[in-house]
Amino acid sequence: MYFVDAVSAPHARTMPDEMQRALIRSRGDAGGCGPLEGCAFEAGDQLVGILGTGDFSRSLARRLVASGYQVVVGSRTPKRCLMLFPEEAEVTSQLEAVNKVDLVFVAVFPEHYSTLQELKPTLAGKTLVDVSNGLHVKRGGPSHAERLADMFPESSIVKGFNTISAWVLQTGPRDGNRQVFLCSDSSHAKSSVMALCRRMGFCPVDMGPLSSSVEIENLPLYLFPSWGTPILISVILFLFFYLYNFVRDVLHPFVTGGKSVFYKMPIETINVTLPSVALVMLALVYMPGLCAAALQLWRGSKYNRFPNWLDKWLVRRKQFGLCSFLCAAMHAIYSLCLPMRQSARYKLLNAAFKQVQEGVENTWSDGAVWRMELYLSVGILALGMLSLLAVTSLPSVADSINWREFSFIQSTLGYCALSMATGHTLLFGWDRAFDPDQYRFYLPPTFVLVLVLPITVLLGRLALLLPCMAHRLQQIRRGWERSRYIHFILPNDGCYNGLDDVSNV
Ligand code: NAP
Repeated sequence: MYFVDAVSAPHARTMPDEMQRALIRSRGDAGGCGPLEGCAFEAGDQLVGILGTGDFSRSLARRLVASGYQVVVGSRTPKRCLMLFPEEAEVTSQLEAVNKVDLVFVAVFPEHYSTLQELKPTLAGKTLVDVSNGLHVKRGGPSHAERLADMFPESSIVKGFNTISAWVLQTGPRDGNRQVFLCSDSSHAKSSVMALCRRMGFCPVDMGPLSSSVEIENLPLYLFPSWGTPILISVILFLFFYLYNFVRDVLHPFVTGGKSVFYKMPIETINVTLPSVALVMLALVYMPGLCAAALQLWRGSKYNRFPNWLDKWLVRRKQFGLCSFLCAAMHAIYSLCLPMRQSARYKLLNAAFKQVQEGVENTWSDGAVWRMELYLSVGILALGMLSLLAVTSLPSVADSINWREFSFIQSTLGYCALSMATGHTLLFGWDRAFDPDQYRFYLPPTFVLVLVLPITVLLGRLALLLPCMAHRLQQIRRGWERSRYIHFILPNDGCYNGLDDVSNV
């Protein structure tokens, strides 16, 4: 066991006094020292300025102090805000603050930048870090940082830290939000902010010149940008299949026999709809790869760009897969709940009662039993594989495996999951596709519709595995072009087995 009892551990009892003291003391804490001059900073510690005394400024000041920086905060009303900052930070007037430092964080809303004009001569030659965020995603026009650069042409403007919330600054960087995107036209100013960033425990990401600031300002404003289409398609498919199942399973018995089975709507109809959406969405994960492969084979080159829609579809495969997983997981939960329903209990009792009345002793049917056993087992296996795919799509997991492992799971196991899910649906349908009673209102059973896309994808994949196809596709992926007639022999080093390449479109 590696866990040590904190109370009984010897070092806990002998911990020196200063280790027990808070890292950052708030003003008014007993035993605190006066502002800055009383604190023991290391020689050469940089003095950093912050304009503004709001939430962001307070959290930034705390993080800077904790990282060993001397901080001087510039406020319009220094006395009013003094108590909000740690003792180690000096709170003074805006002019005095910018006079003392070479690097200033502008923690003021961009609407108020014009009020800083009087600091212009003092800020000349200094680095200003613009941390501001906008209210809406900007498609063009100058960013806040560019506007600041226009106002202070003699200062070096760095855009950054806007993607970090005041809360994260206060609690310290965590794995998920360590990255700080920075850009500037001055490489010297950018390097000094990058160094500061690293010392605070963040990972600076250089986004190039100040013109990238529009994109950096937009980053915290995007709302699931790559999820729109997959969610929309899932919703459309859900509505379509729900309506289809409603017409066949609920409306048909009511119209033709006056039988009211509307109670099926909240659970049974949804439970038939969810797997339909899951399977079609899973097929849509693998469909664009096949389209891309077919297009490359047809063009005889990989150097022509894919159409825009295919490009977008290819980069959203993960989202399609996760939507499919969500539907499949909900289908599993709904299915587990089916026997709990009152309606299911009545049906079971009625069937048993009817059996006794009719004197039937044994209704065991080998075919039906086998079908159900296989149907459930294959369904569980498919869900298990889908869960694995979902887990490996998490960035933290994906980062811990290499490309070949990732591609094996996402492609080979992904196709296994698709085959299993298709098998699960085929077993559900069994021979009912040939039963005329199943064609209510002349509509084919739902599983017949659902199977069209996955079976097409699986057949397409099999076609690409044919040696002539796989070999040509592999050549194309290695740079072969039909129009240029450049002939070469592929290396036979075991690194390319055709299967992976076909799937990695
Ligand atoms: P805030 O709490 O409203 O603070 C803004 C500060 O600006 C005020 O406390 C004020 O300090 C100062 N200020 C200077 N001139 C001003 C003027 N003419 N009118 C009004 N205030 C003036 O805002 P905040 O949340 O700290 O945000 C500050 C900046 O950080 C914004 O640009 C925001 O987009 C950015 N940001 C914030 C967060 C966050 O989590 N809060 C995250 C990322 C980026 P004095 O009165 O002492 O001068």
